[in-house]
Amino acid sequence: MNRTLKKTSATNDISKDELPVAETFLSIQGEGFNSGRAAYFIRLAGCRNRCAWCDSKETWDVSKARMEKIETLVNLASGSGAENIVITGGEPLIHNLNGLCKKLREKHMNIFLETSGTEKFSGNFDWIALSPKEGKKVIAENYELADELKMVICTPEDFSRAEINASMVRKRCRLYLQPEWESRNIILPEIIEYIKGHPSWSISLQLHKLLDIR
Ligand code: SF4
Repeated sequence: MNRTLKKTSATNDISKDELPVAETFLSIQGEGFNSGRAAYFIRLAGCRNRCAWCDSKETWDVSKARMEKIETLVNLASGSGAENIVITGGEPLIHNLNGLCKKLREKHMNIFLETSGTEKFSGNFDWIALSPKEGKKVIAENYELADELKMVICTPEDFSRAEINASMVRKRCRLYLQPEWESRNIILPEIIEYIKGHPSWSISLQLHKLLDIR
C-alpha cells in the first residue's frame, strides 16, 4: 500500500468541521485495485455532474443529507474496526476534504478516494481512484494524482473514450475497465476480448453487487 502522503492543495471551500453525509457503512470494496478489501465507506452528499445513468441520484441533493461533525465521522470509522476508509459520493471533492483526511490520518487509517475528477482536489489519500464520466471535464491536476483510472463501459464506443483518458494519467496509474451493471451481460464478452488485446487494462467487476452486499 502506498503510504506516501499525496499533495494537498486549496480547494473550492474552506475546510468545515461538518459534512453532509448520504450514508456510512462497513463493507467490502467491490471495485478496482482495492477490490475485496474490507473498508468503511463514507458516502458524502452533493454532486453537480448529474450523470443520466447515475446509480446514486439520492446523493445529489445536499439539503436532504444529514450533517455530521468530522469528529463523529472519524469516530464511526475508527469504531468500525476498519483499516481502510473509502470516501465516495456523490462527488466527494465538491467538499473540502482536508479536515476529514487530517483526522482520519491521525487514526492511522488508509484513506481511499473515489472521484469523477470534476472538482478541485483537496485532502490527502493513500489511493485515488479516478472514474471520469462521459461529457464531464476532468481537472488536469486530478489526472496527475490518480493511482487508478476506472472507466465504466456501456458500449464498444466507450473503449476509445477509455484510451483517451488513459493517455492523460501517469504511467504507473492502474487501468481498469468496468462493465456498466445493467449492460454487463452484453458488454462483458467485449471487455474480455478488449483486455486480451490491450493488456495494460484489467477488469473491475462490482464485486459488492455480485455478492449482493451493500
Ligand atoms: S459523478 Fe457519480 S454521483 Fe455524480 S452524477 Fe455522475 S455517477 Fe452520479
